[in-house]
Amino acid sequence: MHFPSSVHTHTTFCDGRDTPEAMARAAAEQGLSTLGFSGHSYAPQEDFGIAPGALPAYIAQIRRLQHACAGRLEVLCGIELDPDAPPTDLSPFDYVIGSCHSVQGADGRIYVVDGTPENLAEAIEQGFGGDALACAAAYYDRLTRFVLALKPTIVGHFDLITKFCEKQPPFNAESAAYREIACAALDRVLEAGLVFEVNTGAMARGWRTSPYPADFLLERIAQAGGRVTLTADAHAKEQLTFGFDEALERIRRAGFAQIWTLTGEGFVPMPL
Ligand SMILES: [Zn+2]
Ligand SMILES: [Zn+2]
Repeated sequence: MHFPSSVHTHTTFCDGRDTPEAMARAAAEQGLSTLGFSGHSYAPQEDFGIAPGALPAYIAQIRRLQHACAGRLEVLCGIELDPDAPPTDLSPFDYVIGSCHSVQGADGRIYVVDGTPENLAEAIEQGFGGDALACAAAYYDRLTRFVLALKPTIVGHFDLITKFCEKQPPFNAESAAYREIACAALDRVLEAGLVFEVNTGAMARGWRTSPYPADFLLERIAQAGGRVTLTADAHAKEQLTFGFDEALERIRRAGFAQIWTLTGEGFVPMPL
């Protein structure tokens, strides 16, 4: 099966390697129908966002590209919004990915959880007295409160807190205690009817051999009649459809009969 859209992508406007133009050329070459740009919002303690002053230039450039590609490739202008972003006018964007990349420790400090295993270890030690599951619970609490208030088009990498669990595990992501925390958060987001992304980004970067979210969460979304889409969280043009075949197989195995693809007219279902 060919999945025709890639709408979680980053460019040189934030922490991506390629320009929007180079990404669009690659998307057309790879046979995609829709390419969406989701530049990171600015977050003070993180260095990967688009500074608020640069957002108008980002939007203008994506809109120019949208016109230039019309008829060949549908281009969408989105943003990946983080809870730490300053108040942002979302009206210029075609869609919003709501993602949390940080936790607030018991010490009040904001810690980034997806930078490096060392960053996460520091968050657990200093922010949670060494209690990794307390850190995971704080992540899910921050994420759920954020997306339930925001109601984004797509909920980004739901279980990002497990990014390093394969290679340098801060906690056991198979444990009943962890799963209970993740499932409780998932159920709250499911109730709101939001669309989850199956995100292959950490596979492309060598941290994981499977996409977000984990299979047990995917199965729970399927059982609840929830909706998923597929994204690559691409930071370079070679990654636009990275791992899509593997992810589609997992989505099918989890029990979904269809997957949703984002277009200029909104989400469209595709049978699996
Ligand atoms: Zn992200
Ligand atoms: Zn991203």
